Amino acid sequence: QKAEWEKLRDEKTFSKDNVHFDLAANIGTPDDIKGVLDNGAEAVGLFRSEFLYMDASELPSEDDQFEAYKKVVEGMNGKQVVVRTMDIGGDKQLPYLPLPEEMNPFLGYRAIRISLDRTDLFRTQLRALLRASAYGKLAIMFPMIATVAEFKKAKAIFEDEKQKMVKAGTKIGDDIQVGMMMEIPAAAMIADKLAKYVDFFSIGTNDLIQYSFAADRGNEKVSYLYQPYNPSLLRLIKKTIDASHAEGKWTGMCGEMAGDQTAVPILMGLGLDEFSMSATSILKTRSLMKRLDTNEMKKLAEKAVTEAETNEDVIKLVHDAIK
Ligand code: PEP
Ligand code: MG
Repeated sequence: QKAEWEKLRDEKTFSKDNVHFDLAANIGTPDDIKGVLDNGAEAVGLFRSEFLYMDASELPSEDDQFEAYKKVVEGMNGKQVVVRTMDIGGDKQLPYLPLPEEMNPFLGYRAIRISLDRTDLFRTQLRALLRASAYGKLAIMFPMIATVAEFKKAKAIFEDEKQKMVKAGTKIGDDIQVGMMMEIPAAAMIADKLAKYVDFFSIGTNDLIQYSFAADRGNEKVSYLYQPYNPSLLRLIKKTIDASHAEGKWTGMCGEMAGDQTAVPILMGLGLDEFSMSATSILKTRSLMKRLDTNEMKKLAEKAVTEAETNEDVIKLVHDAIK
């Protein structure tokens, strides 16, 4: 089986009926690029930039960040790299940036909420990203967007920094896509509105599941509520994908679910455009997708979304469909 996967390393990802899907990798540091290329990824779907902040003893400077982003973008040789702006707070703390103690850190001051408050930090990161965009195909996304207003504010700050750089004659990429993570149910419910402003969505199922089921993703006692195939979650995913397509945009997924072999057939049927996962899952997933027909997967997805009542119902549907 390993040998069969090896042969797929330099191939792109096509279903049995020749529909193309992007298989991308999630990374945490520039050093992960080697593994990404060794495993035949077509892009980086999520660069978790907060590791730059967490591995440092002080706020990383614009130049330090620029070097890290440039290394990743150059390393990918023109393949797209989606960098997520810092997603700190929640369970991720920085020793040099004390955040207030909170009763519910996952519902509190984190991610884009910090960036929109500490615009000094946000602008520094955006400048580093803009400069790095000159070296390859870079896209940017904002984590934990809940409302249209938040996205518009973040995008406006990005445009402001971009205009300043253009005026100053700094070289930047000419087509920098700006999107958002879809990981809050309220945002998924207005995906049609958000789709007018974004270039793409990337569904973060780790958080989307946690917030949909109101179950802490790290709490063993409630882990039975981690239900990626529950029709409730599948409906939020479908809404997001359909809304993006209606506006001519695309949707990726960068949560654990994107590399889950039971979920992949359904996600293909729902029309997900990009699957971003740990590099080591890519070849296995490419091999699975090659064997599946998108029209059959569409029927499977339709049943999962409309007929199934439970997570288990959907698992059974998938097993029956792909045997
Ligand atoms: C997610 O929430 O699914 C995600 C990809 O982001 P993180 O796991 O970093 O919160
Ligand atoms: Mg998340």
